[in-house]
Amino acid sequence: MSPAQHVWLGPEATTYEAECEACRYTREAAAYARRVPVAGTLRADADVGFTTCLRGHRIVVRRIGRTLAGVR
Ligand SMILES: [Zn+2]
Repeated sequence: MSPAQHVWLGPEATTYEAECEACRYTREAAAYARRVPVAGTLRADADVGFTTCLRGHRIVVRRIGRTLAGVR
């Protein structure tokens, strides 16, 4: 099993679109699709989420760059 991939979101982002690295390095994926997009949403108040690509690879969605608003 390969480790989960990570998709990084900026502090304001609530949607993401990425390419599955595991699929990109898999030869048979080329016949399946030239690119394997992974798209989804992350709630504005969420710092982490989980998704899978069309072929089932695990992907962790993490939010970066947000200051600790309200925690002063
Ligand atoms: Zn994949």
